[in-house]
Amino acid sequence: MKFVAGVDIGNATTEVALARIEGKDIQFLASGIGPTTGIKGTLKNINGVFMSLNNALKKVGLEYSDLDEIRINEAAPVIGDVAMETISETIITESTVIGHNPSTPGGTGIGVGTSVLVTELSKITEEKDVIVVIPACVDFAEAARLMNEAKKNVTIQGAIAQTDDGTLITNRLDKKVPVIDEVTMIDKVPLGMECAIEVAPIGSVVSVLSNPYGIATLFQLSSEETKRVVPIARSLIGTRSGVVIKTPEGDVKERSIKAGTITVIGSKKEVEVDVDEGAERIMEGIASIPDIEDIQGEVGTNAGNMLDKVRRVMANLTDKHKRDIKIQDLLAVDTFNPQKVKGGIADEFSLENAVGIAAMVKSDRLQMEIIARVLSEKLNVPVYVGGVEADMAIKGALTTPGTSTPLAIVDMGAGSTDASIINREGKVKLIHLAGAGNMVSLLIQSELGLDDFELAEDIKKYPVALVESLFHIRHEDGTAQFFDKPLDTSVFAKVVLVKDDGELVPLEGMESMERVRQVRMEAKKKVFVTNAVRSLSKVSPTGNPRDIQFVVMVGGSALDFEIPNMVTDALSDYDIVAGRGNIRGCEGPRNAVATGLALACVEEE
Ligand code: ADP
Ligand code: MG
Repeated sequence: MKFVAGVDIGNATTEVALARIEGKDIQFLASGIGPTTGIKGTLKNINGVFMSLNNALKKVGLEYSDLDEIRINEAAPVIGDVAMETISETIITESTVIGHNPSTPGGTGIGVGTSVLVTELSKITEEKDVIVVIPACVDFAEAARLMNEAKKNVTIQGAIAQTDDGTLITNRLDKKVPVIDEVTMIDKVPLGMECAIEVAPIGSVVSVLSNPYGIATLFQLSSEETKRVVPIARSLIGTRSGVVIKTPEGDVKERSIKAGTITVIGSKKEVEVDVDEGAERIMEGIASIPDIEDIQGEVGTNAGNMLDKVRRVMANLTDKHKRDIKIQDLLAVDTFNPQKVKGGIADEFSLENAVGIAAMVKSDRLQMEIIARVLSEKLNVPVYVGGVEADMAIKGALTTPGTSTPLAIVDMGAGSTDASIINREGKVKLIHLAGAGNMVSLLIQSELGLDDFELAEDIKKYPVALVESLFHIRHEDGTAQFFDKPLDTSVFAKVVLVKDDGELVPLEGMESMERVRQVRMEAKKKVFVTNAVRSLSKVSPTGNPRDIQFVVMVGGSALDFEIPNMVTDALSDYDIVAGRGNIRGCEGPRNAVATGLALACVEEE
């Protein structure tokens, strides 16, 4: 009889399966789980291994010294890294437009007039419609006084303020007009120019200035001129307030940034793709080379820097030279990235097109041998590197009730999506692909403009709801839930995450529940549906995923509340039966590799 532990060091999680082996019989005693310490495949992992082993041993009252053998995964054939590159930018020249979402603009409606400094109002002698410009040096009370005292010949149509005092000014006006505030660089607003201003009511967005014909009506433009204001109207879509100033030179442009090319190198041929052609073209390039040896970015461009960063990080971690690090796979995804508008005057942001990339390098068995040796010395227990990860994962996955060979699995982790397939004769074929849970969180983080990766992880894991009153919330699927006791006022009228235990976590600054949901679901589809199909095509005996019948999904991302359904749905188009694994009938989709490692000990008995 002997006690063995299978230890799976993943990018995110270190998992343990503890078992007792007697001859050909194996009995699983406990599982352990803990976060991986350091980057997968480096000596820093040892701490995490200790914690996860401890976690399992404690459950059954065993000590390290009771163990006869430890198997760790041949791990780290893959290490993923993700990066984001913006490929378009919006530039405003000569300040023709202000569009932003000040938190408390004053008044609502539309106004058209000539821009005039508030302190110059009294000097106007002719009949005139004006838009008043209020710099920070004039306080709200003074500004309101000057505006109320303006002479009969002057009709005030609206105001643009530098400070955050829109409401304070409006409250003091005898005749209410729309006021846009928080325009930081007010000195860039040209004076004596024709100006149109729009503030939308609470909860809505501008509708006249975001429409080219709306602008044309206000400024009486010809059809030629109307064509030129299209980018201006576009840049104001979705904002609460906007100003358009008719200056002789002004313009808004969307420019494409040269992102550089990516070259996919195979043993027989290579292809080159422009990054700014988008993710789909890049992925066609990747798919056209069956045996990728390396992927390189054009030197001196964003693409080059991005892939160079991956290489540099990996070279550091593995004590190798940068040129010896080969990129084996890459997942490119089209995304958006909020960027400050160049030449803007009110800190305008625009959602620019970007490409997100997850890259993966191959590291070697040597790395794991070193970890095994150090572990063995510290624990005084023999530690072996036991078999390739995907191989072990399939052994573990086969403990899911109702499965048998032939079977394919998709292991959806943090850094990579791995697939393997076993035929009736027990032969295994496997593939590791870049892009998994971390990539999903990164896309959510950048598209929603979050500072914090952890918050993006939470948005990935939990559904959203809107707190409509202190006694009820509206879930994202439309159902209402009522409460007996009032909810905390801090969540009132906010978009919240609904955690498993019912806790409501407010998402500060997030206005639309629909948008959070849409960004979240799109990110999951872009990464996991793409990678499930891509990985199964690669392991299919014919190269066509249709020739696979059964697929089991394992790994942490298979715990997700919607990813497995999305993948099941997409794979049913290929007539594949796919579902979430349940390792040993009790572990859910977790612990497949660790279980497989322990099982491998029996076979060698
Ligand atoms: P690895 O094998 O690379 O260590 P895991 O199999 O532990 O990875 O999976 C980690 C990934 O699973 C992370 O991206 C994490 O965000 C994700 N994950 C973990 N739990 C959940 C959950 N409940 N819902 C969605 N994703 C989850
Ligand atoms: Mg894993």
